[in-house]
Amino acid sequence: MNNFSAESNIELASSTVLELKTILSDLNEPEFRAKQIMEWLARGARPDEMLNIPKTLREKLKAIPYGNADIIDVRHSKRDDTSKMLYELADGNIVEGVLMRYAYGNTLCISTQAGCRMGCAFCASTLNGRVRNLTAGEMLSEITAVEKYFPCSDSKKRTVTNIVMMGCGEPLDNYDNTLRFLQRVTAADFLGISPRNISLSTCGLVPLIYRLAEEAPHVTLCISLHAPNDDIRDKLMPVNHTYRMNELIPAAKHYADVTGRRVIFEYALVDEVNSSQECARELASRLRGINCHVNLIPLNSVEERNLKGVTRKYAYQFQGWLEKLHISATVRRELGTDIDGACGQLRNKYSGDHGGNC
Ligand code: SAH
Repeated sequence: MNNFSAESNIELASSTVLELKTILSDLNEPEFRAKQIMEWLARGARPDEMLNIPKTLREKLKAIPYGNADIIDVRHSKRDDTSKMLYELADGNIVEGVLMRYAYGNTLCISTQAGCRMGCAFCASTLNGRVRNLTAGEMLSEITAVEKYFPCSDSKKRTVTNIVMMGCGEPLDNYDNTLRFLQRVTAADFLGISPRNISLSTCGLVPLIYRLAEEAPHVTLCISLHAPNDDIRDKLMPVNHTYRMNELIPAAKHYADVTGRRVIFEYALVDEVNSSQECARELASRLRGINCHVNLIPLNSVEERNLKGVTRKYAYQFQGWLEKLHISATVRRELGTDIDGACGQLRNKYSGDHGGNC
């Protein structure tokens, strides 16, 4: 009927109105349908659900790859109002997400890759390497699928108001799809989420931080630092062998300077590794002069790894040391600890229980 295939790179979920018009003209269909289709796509509708579209056109649209991420499991935390989702992609791969509810709105943590190849010593997502990149459409579908599952009581508003790219994967290791995702998720005629409400977290792929400052809508950049010096960082994060801290920290400063946005440094406190008072001093002197904030996280111990977190009480002490040195810091709330909140944990358990391929 038509020659759209997985290889052609076309997918409905991330298409612009202009691209939809081209698709429609290739299908000998009127271009005015593009806007209608776009409105459906923003609600996560699949072709069968596009009620004002003629059945013949819906059939043609069904032959085009969609870029879906279908929710196959949801767990609710009894301790806090957090839900964790497992999504299945069209090829059977599985990724995860977390919806965190706050007074000001809801934050969705999304995945950018199935698995990860960055090899951080404490992270469950990287245990079996990278399986594949997610497409921009799949990332967008993570949002629209959640909005379908948890509809907003006010139909004029969106369920998901904030996005953090902190699920499975390294977003900058999937740069082109991440860029397209950011363009589409912020587009006024599509999901229209403000870049101010989007955080992108990276382990520190330095050249791509510079590209992001130039090419993407100015989102909040989070850098997973986790160490005050190269010796300690080398032990925790293999990426540090490629991009040293004396390249990474200036890249973070550049991003803050160019975008005018405060950069967030994430720092998971690991017992007897990076949590001494001396580490706090060294970290503070490294970060001096940068418009930044430090997010402290007591390491979430991962069964497969032999690293231990510190207590929350200790994390507050570390925060106090930084603040005395005039570095602003907070201890991140722990959410969903009863539903495997740490990244990669739920997906790994699912694969283990169900014999999945990740
Ligand atoms: N690849 C990106 C985003 C994914 S991880 C990155 O590296 O930033 C999101 C955050 O969770 C990162 O800061 C990561 O270092 C942190 N993280 C991973 N495993 C963790 C664990 N077991 N305990 C605490 N933080 C963890």
